[in-house]
Amino acid sequence: MDKNNLERRAYETFLDLMTQAGADKIVAAVKKELSDQRQYLKMIASENYCSITVQMAMGNLFTDKYAEGSISARYYAGCTNADDVEREARDRCIELFDPEKKYGLHANVQPHSGSDANIMAYMAILSKWEESFLEEKQAKLSSLDRAGFSSLRGHSQRCKMVSMGLSDGGHLTHGYRMNVSARLFDVYSYGVDPSTGFIDYDELESIVEKAKPYILVAGYSAYTRKIDFERMRDIADKYGACLFVDMAHFSGLVAGGVFKGKFNPVSYADIITSTTHKTLRGPRGGIILCKKEWRSHIDKGCPHAIGGPLLNMIVAKAIAFMEAASKEFKDYSAQVVKNADALAQKLIGCGATLLTGGTENHMVIIHVAQSFSLTGMQAEKALFQVGIVVNRNAVPKDSHGMWLTSGIRLGTPALTTRGLKEGEMEKIAEMIVEVLSKTQPHGNDGKEIILDSSYVTKKKEQIRDLLEEFPLYEQLQN
Ligand SMILES: *Cc1c(COP(=O)(O)O)cnc(C)c1O
Repeated sequence: MDKNNLERRAYETFLDLMTQAGADKIVAAVKKELSDQRQYLKMIASENYCSITVQMAMGNLFTDKYAEGSISARYYAGCTNADDVEREARDRCIELFDPEKKYGLHANVQPHSGSDANIMAYMAILSKWEESFLEEKQAKLSSLDRAGFSSLRGHSQRCKMVSMGLSDGGHLTHGYRMNVSARLFDVYSYGVDPSTGFIDYDELESIVEKAKPYILVAGYSAYTRKIDFERMRDIADKYGACLFVDMAHFSGLVAGGVFKGKFNPVSYADIITSTTHKTLRGPRGGIILCKKEWRSHIDKGCPHAIGGPLLNMIVAKAIAFMEAASKEFKDYSAQVVKNADALAQKLIGCGATLLTGGTENHMVIIHVAQSFSLTGMQAEKALFQVGIVVNRNAVPKDSHGMWLTSGIRLGTPALTTRGLKEGEMEKIAEMIVEVLSKTQPHGNDGKEIILDSSYVTKKKEQIRDLLEEFPLYEQLQN
């Protein structure tokens, strides 16, 4: 039987089983989600569509197995099959990012998400720091008395982190005050040059020089340029910091060979974390890559931060790594960036102001307050009404704050999976500018809008027509 048929049968069987279990509401929501995913132009930069094979691979018997610990070193009996699965996923992951085995990478595929990967990695870094603290005291963690442990905690919280600030494009887990990361480290932030929107490496270096951090974090959730990892490595080395790269957003562009040379973090970083569900187009999850000397620390995810790994998800990760090693995925990731560039160029041509004036990756950020006198929330609402899904995003020093914001972030990974190309991106850019130009702010709270309803209906139809040419999960009936 061909693949499409198998996938359709698997999905239908899943729905039938849910129905038989009496989960009608769940079945209805799953069907509605598929229909929504088909009907909307999905431009959330962190989302994608993974293959039905990956989707189905998530539902397997390994969810029943506890395998706390690492491969061949488990806290539970009966883990040999779990070891086989995790070893395969790990080796596929290493092969994907270091195909020639040049860098002696180790990988850990256990993190449940990108945030988990970061917490696991931070704890690994702190546990390495702790070793020297304990050596000095000639003590063991378990034998420290209450006062000794309190002193260790006090010292560890003074370990410094230098990372990109949230409103300049960093992530919550890079030391945002409400996040656990800010409780683990003493955080110093760098940002972007206000005139160009680019990372200012000289300023970054001066912050690192003053702070002398234990770790330097490179990586972003909302930044449209490549990072110069060679320069980051130089700065880290000069001041003795560990270089930590969070490639959650762009790991697919690394795997697909779009980010090469000094823009590929693999040979430069001490530790790399990523999600598996953004540009990498796999199941929802996380991974950590590291140099061999970090291996023993990284592989202590349990007890550091997690309990049992989600082995059923690790099965699906292995499939996704195999898919991402294909020629098709190389072409896909190149197209993601071409599409983002086409989108950016057309938006600029139509008069929109973009952060950094363009893009070199998979995302574009429009300064909607400047271009259309709208808040990010208003722009997000207007676009959603016509069927374009985006998320609002703060811009550096945002005058509307983190909730309303002044920007929207657009991404091309999902639409590129559907097969849209530069021509469609240009049409979409024109549509976005038209919709936002016709949107009137309503009231003074920065939340409400007025948009003509017959115009909305017309645009919705236009989007439906466009998407009909690019069916999503065509092998599934409904
Ligand atoms: C998305 C993202 C994460 C978190 O991933 P989750 O899977 O949502 O926990 C971490 N770091 C960066 C830079 C991200 O963009």
